[in-house]
Amino acid sequence: MLKKGRRGSKLKKLTALIITDLQNDFMPSGALPIKEGEAIIPIVLQIAPLFSHIYTTQDWHPNNHVSFAINHGKRPGEIIEIHGKSQILWPVHCVQETLGADLIPRLQRIAIEKKIYKGENPLIDSYSAFFDNEKKKSTGLNEYLKKRGIQKLFFSGFATDFCILYSIKDAIDQGFIAYVIRDACRAMNKELLDETKALVAMENYGAVIILSREISSYL
Ligand SMILES: [Zn+2]
Repeated sequence: MLKKGRRGSKLKKLTALIITDLQNDFMPSGALPIKEGEAIIPIVLQIAPLFSHIYTTQDWHPNNHVSFAINHGKRPGEIIEIHGKSQILWPVHCVQETLGADLIPRLQRIAIEKKIYKGENPLIDSYSAFFDNEKKKSTGLNEYLKKRGIQKLFFSGFATDFCILYSIKDAIDQGFIAYVIRDACRAMNKELLDETKALVAMENYGAVIILSREISSYL
């Protein structure tokens, strides 16, 4: 029995669930709501018990963050150039130590092993769970996962066309096998086909796009 249990736990250690930015400000009453974002909550709660290792990410911005339109005297949705890269401007969202930046309360039911914070540098936005958008600073997630021998990452959360997309590319670049649980994610969809385009881009990059009901066959 003991031997079997050990083998089982070793197998599970290789996989992890990443819950991306499931924060109050991305909910319907939040500062930057994602359409039908609340629909993924029951799915995330349902799949969580399949994983021994669960990590969350949180947008965690200072008030003077570069991505806030108000800090440039512009409107959300406008695009500016920063350090040679285009930056979409957002409403003020997920400000450090505010209720909007908290994980949604229902995630308290889940045993979260580690919380990753991103977007703390006022000068650089940070979509990926691994690096800021200029790849200047690591969040520490890559090193943390490598130390534990975790090789397969299953992504859920927000937004398919921003943070999930960036995280998937970085995950694959860092040598992880990356899965997108399509129905456990939602897109910002600023343009109608953004979600579809993101899914195609991630698949072309090497990610496996799956549905929540299929997870057990990939564990
Ligand atoms: Zn943000």
